[in-house]
Amino acid sequence: MTTNYETREHDVVIIGAGGAGLRAAIEALAQGASVGVVCKSLLGKAHTVMAEGGIAAAMANVDAADSWKTHFRDTMRGGKFLNNWRMAQLHAQEAPERVRELEQWGALFDRTETGDILQRAFGGHTFKRLCHVGDRTGLEMIRTLQDRGVQQGFDVFMECTVTRLLTDGKRITGAFAYWRESGRFIVFKAKSVVIATGGIGKAWRVTSNSWEYTGDGMALAYEAGAELMDMEFVQFHPTGMVWPPGVQGLLVTEAVRGEGGILRNKNGERFMEKYDPKRLELSTRDVVARSIYTEVKEGRGTEHGGAFLDISHKPADYVKKKLPSMYHQFKELADVDITKGPMEVGPTCHYMMGGIRVEAETAQSTVPGLFAAGEAAAGLHGSNRLGGNSLSDLLVFGRRAGLAAAAHAKSVSHAPVNTAQIEAAEKELLAPFANTGGESPYAVHRDLQEVMQNLVGIYRTEQDLMKSLGDLEKLSARSAKTGVEGTRMFNPGWHLTRELKSMLLISEAVARAALARKESRGAHSRTDYPNLDDANWGKKNNIIVQDGSTMTRRESAVPEMPADLRQIAAQE
Ligand SMILES: Cc1cc2nc3c(=O)[nH]c(=O)nc-3n(C[C@H](O)[C@H](O)[C@H](O)COP(=O)(O)OP(=O)(O)OC[C@H]3O[C@@H](n4cnc5c(N)ncnc54)[C@H](O)[C@@H]3O)c2cc1C
Repeated sequence: MTTNYETREHDVVIIGAGGAGLRAAIEALAQGASVGVVCKSLLGKAHTVMAEGGIAAAMANVDAADSWKTHFRDTMRGGKFLNNWRMAQLHAQEAPERVRELEQWGALFDRTETGDILQRAFGGHTFKRLCHVGDRTGLEMIRTLQDRGVQQGFDVFMECTVTRLLTDGKRITGAFAYWRESGRFIVFKAKSVVIATGGIGKAWRVTSNSWEYTGDGMALAYEAGAELMDMEFVQFHPTGMVWPPGVQGLLVTEAVRGEGGILRNKNGERFMEKYDPKRLELSTRDVVARSIYTEVKEGRGTEHGGAFLDISHKPADYVKKKLPSMYHQFKELADVDITKGPMEVGPTCHYMMGGIRVEAETAQSTVPGLFAAGEAAAGLHGSNRLGGNSLSDLLVFGRRAGLAAAAHAKSVSHAPVNTAQIEAAEKELLAPFANTGGESPYAVHRDLQEVMQNLVGIYRTEQDLMKSLGDLEKLSARSAKTGVEGTRMFNPGWHLTRELKSMLLISEAVARAALARKESRGAHSRTDYPNLDDANWGKKNNIIVQDGSTMTRRESAVPEMPADLRQIAAQE
């Protein structure tokens, strides 16, 4: 086996250059650590850049009555109390400071008339809380973090995919990766590794997620011995485009509803009056997604199988100013002028609440030296995330992960990397070239998306989930035999063979956890167990962990909330 790879050495290696990874990098640098940031796309092209609606933070600029306590309460209620309460508390308390910091670093937010950061309404938030830049908030956030980080001096390895974490059996020692362009291998020696690789939406057919979301970081952590938590909770955003077919799933930001958008069925009925008369369109995402799904299933959907979302009652100039991306998206892709008529929308796979289990204060996983933040980590959102709470999550826990990763790096020295692990990683990567005439990975990916869409979607049953596990096993066998043509020079089919492994592994974790949770809670809806079952499931997190080569599941008690927070959460 070849040992033909380059080696780099850093105190802290961060995998992922979205909001979580960049914020972690900035903090680790500030602590004096040497930092390498590895990302499989170009720097600045992470998923975070797509974020539209805003960052949730109780700044109280628009609604003076807002406070961290209300934000905490909204987050816990949105997550149906499965959240890690300490994460929800830290998040609500620290988000305003993190947003102000972003502003000091140069982010240009929309403003109130008195010059404060403007905040808009969003589903499940009691007050107007989302700090935003029109509907291009993620772009401004990533630009600001990137400028700050590059200026401070981290090393960037872009178009470089990590395929394995290296350990000495007890703690993290580094990571193995390959350059996407040349196919050549690279080994990172590190004292701490932060996973900030985002979610796994590309395992579903209809999704708002980009090609990067293949669950790599969760799979890397799992294979290194870390625990995954609450994998059954996959968020289906209520409003993705349903037409034309080529853009099905593309996100229609919740900011449309935040700015006053109204949902109607084909008969013109404002159906949210039936499902959540109090909050209407600003109900939580799980409720709105199921409402649209039900309207369509019961024959009241639009021509292309969705609902109408209308903002055309607002002045055209206002719509163009507050929702410029949505205006252009519909004009260019669907030939619809949203200032004059409604959009057609339907649910789309959007966000992963589950992920790597971490400690609240440090973002450290169950493996020493391995940290995780952002969408790759679990705990903050419980069974359902409120809109806007992801961008604030990235800032709060990205910073905490960077801080703790740097502190950990100071407490240990570099351990030698295990050459057997490197050789195994090389062998695994090169195997598809030897499978001459093997099946195309694209065919297996397409079939995986059908399985997850049809059997592990918005509504689930025991029968479907059992079938999905059987189907996933067959797909894994097919995946092991996929073959690729050509060379290691930029070869997307080859890249997909490795990503397929991650997607299949994490899809299995989702299906297993979904099968076990015999109740409906937040984003997890079982038609055979349609109600919340607080007595049996209200205080249990699902944990998935590797035992030898077997995926095992167990339950773990949700940490008990202290009395003062219980009181805050219970207030009307
Ligand atoms: C269209 C859209 C709009 C959204 N709007 C909002 C919003 O308004 N407010 C809000 O709070 N949330 C929003 N979200 C959710 C939010 O954007 C994401 O949850 C968040 O950006 C995730 O950030 P992250 O840092 O965890 O990951 P990302 O920003 O996705 O970054 C992941 C990084 O990991 C890298 N990576 C992945 N795998 C590997 C690997 N194997 N090796 C090396 N690098 C790897 C990628 O290249 C990338 O750099 C939106 C999501 C979408 C899709």
